[in-house]
Amino acid sequence: MIESHRVVPPEPTPPSRRNTVGCLVCAKATTGGKPYCARHVDQMPYVAQLSARLARRRGRKGDAA
Ligand SMILES: [Zn+2]
Repeated sequence: MIESHRVVPPEPTPPSRRNTVGCLVCAKATTGGKPYCARHVDQMPYVAQLSARLARRRGRKGDAA
């Protein structure tokens, strides 16, 4: 018997794998499709901006302290 045309169905990507995103810093798998793990979440541009703004505000106000 010769199987000349064997149709191989494309392997569907498991949803759990498809949603797995590695941390942009350490490439560690993260949950919820986040680009950063809990360790490097503070390196997110949004968080960095926020902390920078906070630091600036604190620097202005914290002159006496
Ligand atoms: Zn990380």
